[in-house]
Parts: sequence; structure tokens; C-alpha cells
Amino acid sequence: MCAKQVTKIGVLTSGGDAPGMNAAVRAVVRTGIYHGLEVFGIYRGYSGMIDDDIVQMNSRSVANIIQRGGTILKTARSKDFFEIEGREKAYKNLAKRGINGLVIIGGDGSFRGAQKFSHEFDIPCIGIPGTIDKDIAGTDFTIGFDTAVNTAVEAIDKIRDTADAHDRLFIVEVMGRDAGYIALHSGIATGAENILIPEAKTNIEELVNSLTEKEKRQKLVNLIVVAEGDEFGANEIAEVIRVRLPQTDTRVCILGHIQRGGSPTCLDRLIASRMGYHSVECLLEGRNNVMVGILNNKVHYTPLDKAVKAKQKITDDWFKIVKILAS
Ligand code: ADP
Repeated sequence: MCAKQVTKIGVLTSGGDAPGMNAAVRAVVRTGIYHGLEVFGIYRGYSGMIDDDIVQMNSRSVANIIQRGGTILKTARSKDFFEIEGREKAYKNLAKRGINGLVIIGGDGSFRGAQKFSHEFDIPCIGIPGTIDKDIAGTDFTIGFDTAVNTAVEAIDKIRDTADAHDRLFIVEVMGRDAGYIALHSGIATGAENILIPEAKTNIEELVNSLTEKEKRQKLVNLIVVAEGDEFGANEIAEVIRVRLPQTDTRVCILGHIQRGGSPTCLDRLIASRMGYHSVECLLEGRNNVMVGILNNKVHYTPLDKAVKAKQKITDDWFKIVKILAS
């Protein structure tokens, strides 16, 4: 806990963008103003903090943004923030305005930066998990995941139609460099036969056997959903299948950045609004260095170091569900 009362707060979006970040910014600004705080928008994440790209916000600054993807504050990755000189510069820009509390909307990298900053300088930092990857401990939800996964589902449903028309095997690659949640959720929701994710070792023999066995049962439409961080990329898997099962008409589709964009879903807007509201309450209660999450539908505060060290786990029953339902 931090004894000093916050009076002026800054809010920034940092690292990878995620749909719903705007709803969180809006909630921080309006909750702050409701409590009589001055609220500053810091542009381009930590880069804007270092470059003094900081603007005071009012309620109207965040009008008409709850439904918009991306982030009005822009986001960036800042090499300079890794260095103490960069963080000192950032601190001076906050100090000259009297900003004495920060809300950081971002992923685990942004939280690592926040942790360092709040240890070095006398400014409490509160994190809000904004990442489409859902790979942060201490919360059931991260802002942007639901939108991204629904975008993937919509796209894969369309791919299934064309796969069905031609009796083709489609290998669809979705986002998730370190985490397989988008692949797992979108794969189950679209009835994929196989889901390949970084959290589980990909067994090529098993994959080929399962496709052969399905062929025998005349299962003609096959979808394989692969997370981009899986040890085998979609193209590599396709190559193996072309060699081992040459009779299979195989195509690859890489969904890419469409998964980051678009209007946030109701769920993302809702959790962003709740987290944004509670992040300001947190600062007013004198908390520091915690992430606002939602666990079992209750707001839950996790120390930033715990939120970044452990990831959400994918348990074995998920894999069992995939196997049984694809039979
Ligand atoms: P994300 O928040 O989406 O995981 P990054 O990992 O790129 O994105 O982190 C965003 C930014 O946070 C980095 O560009 C850097 O400015 C800052 N950051 C990340 N890790 C650290 C660290 N260990 N020390 C200081 N700053 C960091």
C-alpha cells in the first residue's frame, strides 16, 4: 500500500494492441474525473512518456470510442524504457505535471516495465491486462481475447464452407506466439479435428495417423487449427501432409492481423469498463504494483510480479475434449 493520496493520474496503452483498450481508457478517464482527479492520456505507451507526449483528458476526450478497435492513445514498444536513463526521463515528465498515479493497459512486457518503474520512482502503477493472447495469470479474461477469438471463429466458419465444397483439408494458422488460447478456443468452437498449440508437443505421426483413420471413416472435411507459436508452422505441417498423404487436397490459410482489429465484443467492452473503473479505485485506495483482473466473476488484484511470472494453464481435459469431439 502507498500512503500518498493520488490527485493526478496518467493512463497509457502499451505493447500489442487489443480491441477493447479504448473502453478501458474511457473507464479510467471518466472514473478519475468522477473522483475529482486530473487525468492525463499518455500517447504511444512508454515512448510517449519519455518523449513528453502527454495530454490532459476530459470526459469528452473519450466520447464515442467504446465501440472502436485499436487504441486512441496509440501504442508502441519502447527500447529506451528498458534503460534507467529512459525511465528517468519519463519520470521527470510525469513529475513536472504532478502525475502521481499510473494505469498501464498492456501485456506482460508492459507490466514488467511498470514494476521496474514503480520500484524506482515514487509513482504507484496499476496494470490492466490488455492482450488478445489471454496469457496472464490472475484473471479469467484479458481485454481483446474474446474479440480476437470471435474474429477467428467467423473466418474459420467461412473456410469450412469452402473446405466442405471441395473435400479439402485446411490448415488455419491463428495468432498466439507463446500461448495457444486463440487456437484452442476457436478450434473447439469451429469443430476442428486437430489443434496444435505451443503448450503441447506436436506429434506428427499421431497427426498423420488420425487423418488416415478419418479418411477411412470417410470424414472428408478436415480442419487443423495451428497457433503461430506451435513448433511446426502451418506451412510445415502442410508440407508433411502433402508428402505423407498425397491424395489429400491440402490448403493453408494464415489469418494474421485481422484478429487484432475490429469492434470489441460486448464481453471485451464489459471487462474493460470494469477493469478501468477498478484501476482508479485501486489507486485511490493506495494500492501499488497490482493488476486488476476478474476471477470467478469477481474483481481480483494480483501483484504485478505474480501476474507476469505464471501464465494461465491449459489443462489436460481441454485436449481430451478436442480428441473426443473430433471423432
Ligand atoms: P506486451 O505488453 O504486449 O507484452 P512488450 O513485451 O513489447 O509488450 O512490452 C511493451 C513495452 O514494455 C516494451 O517495449 C518496453 O518499453 C516495456 N518493457 C517490457 N519489459 C521491460 C523490462 N524488463 N524493463 C523495462 N521495460 C520493459
